[in-house]
Amino acid sequence: MSTTHLTKKTLMLDDAEVSIEPAVTPPPQTLNALPKKPKMGSSRSRKKEIPEGLWTKCPKCESMIYDKELDAALKVCAKCGHHFLIGARERINALVETCSFQEMDAQMTAVDALKFTGVSSYTSKLAAYWKSTSLKDAVITGVGSIGTHKAAIGVMDFSFLGGSMGAVVGEKLTRLIETGTDRGLPVIIISTSGGARMYEGMFSLMQMAKTCGALAYHAKNKLPFISILTNPTYAGVMASFASVGDLILAEPGALIGFAGPRVIKDTTQAELPPGFQTAEFLVDHGLVDAIVPRGEMKERLKFYLDFLSEGMKQMAAMG
Ligand SMILES: [Zn+2]
Repeated sequence: MSTTHLTKKTLMLDDAEVSIEPAVTPPPQTLNALPKKPKMGSSRSRKKEIPEGLWTKCPKCESMIYDKELDAALKVCAKCGHHFLIGARERINALVETCSFQEMDAQMTAVDALKFTGVSSYTSKLAAYWKSTSLKDAVITGVGSIGTHKAAIGVMDFSFLGGSMGAVVGEKLTRLIETGTDRGLPVIIISTSGGARMYEGMFSLMQMAKTCGALAYHAKNKLPFISILTNPTYAGVMASFASVGDLILAEPGALIGFAGPRVIKDTTQAELPPGFQTAEFLVDHGLVDAIVPRGEMKERLKFYLDFLSEGMKQMAAMG
C-alpha cells in the first residue's frame, strides 16, 4: 500500500482537485456501527490497550475523547471546541424536530455518463462509497421543521467522495430549492465539499449554474436562503450556491475558499495572511455573516427563521 493511497483514504478527499487540510476524523463507517464493547472477561488485555473505536484523539488539543461523549456533543471537542466532521444524517437529527423530516429523492443515484476510468472506474468508486457510507450520494434533502418553521433543508456529507457535486447533488438541491419556492418555504443548505466531481466532467460543472438559477427564482419570490458553510467548503460548491445565501453562517474554524491555500500561494507567490480561508477570517472580511458553533445552530436558526418569517408575512401583506 503506497503512502499517497493512505493519505487520500485518511482525508476522504479522494481525487478532489483542491488541496485542503481538513481535520482528520474517524472514518464515517464507524458512525453507523455500534462501538465494540470491551470483553469483560479478559482483564489482562483490557489493561494493556485502549479498545479501538471507543476513543478519538482531538487533532487540535490532543485530548482523548470518549466516542459516546463526542457523539452526544455533536462531534465537538468539549475541551477546545474543535469541530470534527459530522455525517449528514447526524446533522439532520440534531436540527429538525423529531419525525418531521420528509426526505426527497432518497433513491437518486449517479450514472457514469462519461465512462470515466482512471486508477479505478467511476462505477466501482460509486459502488464502494454506497457500501462504505450507506449514502446514495453526497447530499440529503427534504422538508422538515425547525421549531415551528417548516423549511426545505439540504445537508451535504463529506464522507461521500469528498462531498463533491455531481449531477445527483445538483439535481437534488435544485429540486429542493424548487420545492421551497413552490411551497413558500425558506431554503437552508449546509455545505461541505471539495468541489465539483471530476468524474462527471461538464455535467458536474453545469450544476453550479443550475442550483444558482433555482435560487434566483427563489429570491424572486421573496423567499430566504440560508447557507451554512462547514469544514471544508471549497471550489465549485463555494463558487456557486454556497456563497449566494441571504444569510451566510459558518461553523468555527471551517476552511472555506475557492482554491486551496497552497494553490493560491504557488500561483501568486505571495505570503498569505494569518488565518487565511478560515471562517473567522471571512467574517472579518465580510463574506460570512456569523459564526455559529454546532451546538447552538438549531437555536440560532430558529431565531433567524422567526425574524425572516415576519419579513415574509409583511412582504405577502404588501403583495
Ligand atoms: Zn480538542
